[in-house]
Amino acid sequence: MTGKPPLLEIRNLRKYFEQNSNIVDMLLRREPNQVQAVDDVSLTLEENESIAVIGESGCGKTTLLLTLIGLHDITDGEIVYKGKSISEFDKPDWKRYRRNVQVVFQDPFNSLDPKMTIEETLQEPLKIHGIKNREKRVRDVLEHVELNPPEKYLHKKPRNLSGGEKQRVSIARGLILEPDIILADEPVSMLDVSTQAAVLKKMKELIEDFGVSMIYISHDLSTVSYISDTVNVMYLGRIVETAPTEQILADPKHPYTEELVSAVPIPDPSHDRQRTQMSGAPRDPVNLDEGCRFRDRCPAVIPPDDIEISQEAYREIIEFRELLQRDEVAFERVMNTIDKSYPDDRKMAKAIREDYFTHDLTGENGAVLNEALIAFANEKQDVAVKRLQERFKSICETTPPTVEDENGWCVACHHYDQNVADLQVEQPKTAQSD
Ligand code: SF4
Repeated sequence: MTGKPPLLEIRNLRKYFEQNSNIVDMLLRREPNQVQAVDDVSLTLEENESIAVIGESGCGKTTLLLTLIGLHDITDGEIVYKGKSISEFDKPDWKRYRRNVQVVFQDPFNSLDPKMTIEETLQEPLKIHGIKNREKRVRDVLEHVELNPPEKYLHKKPRNLSGGEKQRVSIARGLILEPDIILADEPVSMLDVSTQAAVLKKMKELIEDFGVSMIYISHDLSTVSYISDTVNVMYLGRIVETAPTEQILADPKHPYTEELVSAVPIPDPSHDRQRTQMSGAPRDPVNLDEGCRFRDRCPAVIPPDDIEISQEAYREIIEFRELLQRDEVAFERVMNTIDKSYPDDRKMAKAIREDYFTHDLTGENGAVLNEALIAFANEKQDVAVKRLQERFKSICETTPPTVEDENGWCVACHHYDQNVADLQVEQPKTAQSD
């Protein structure tokens, strides 16, 4: 133990945005809605380490990056660089931080100034930070990113380069100040697949050669094995699983991670991996409660332990209730399928049930569903939601999943929570690799 603090610590970071209020909200003095883009995220980056943050578009990973470089204020929590919180930074601290934390952006086509030559692009940060010996440093870094010989590229403009060459220039610009940390935001997503692997391998070599640490941000789990030691999976503003890269690819635990892993292509055509069935899209990250944010799409959501119901039938109920709560049940469309000359709430309830439910529910479960659908047919949406909540409420929506931590592995899912270990539910293995 050296007692040295980690290079970068993100502690319970929150970044919320207020949604614009409309005139009615203002007149009624309603509190503005909160978009919870990043919510209670904690990460640690050590020296010479490369970690990844993986998640779908809109999960909050780019907001996390922009907060890290000071472009967004922090709502709550802390970012600590070499033991000092950035909230305590003075001007020289910010200058040092901006030099030592560099970003490689997603889009090499737009992140380079089209009017500047490659030499001017690479010299610019050196000038800003008053660094001498600029010509040699520019040539050296071009050689490092394998744009050889440098003379061939110095006087070119971005339009004269291929996509892969442009991204190598972006990486060179990230490295030229010899930073401690590179934040790489989807650095290869706009390149073709053959170029992606070459650029990622080069990045990995460079971060090792330069002794740089990296936070690699991507939606694509298939690229992380090239570059990251540890993967953090993010869903709707929260980290839901953290594990060493090899472990997460071989044995994902969280149902969302399983889905991401099942989508990673396997080059061996004889290897048949089962795909999971994840439905829908993430909800808006607005005024979210403390329950699991993946529950409306989770193939392993946990039913209440005092009712008997199959997993599939339970998921249909949960999905339908979420639609009801978001006012997204297609009432008019369903009503167009029935004979409207004798409007009858039971007939309407039956039509909705046939349209939205494929699994038969009997006994008390079926009776409660019918009551809810009849309430909905009578335009009592709140009553319908309440009835479904009373009968079918899951621990996944009432209780935040505990994040377990064993040997660098954390997962936010009740299936791994000792407090619910006695629940008689199937474990969430829905994808297998053989
Ligand atoms: S806590 Fe529940 S809803 Fe969330 S991932 Fe686990 S089983 Fe699915």
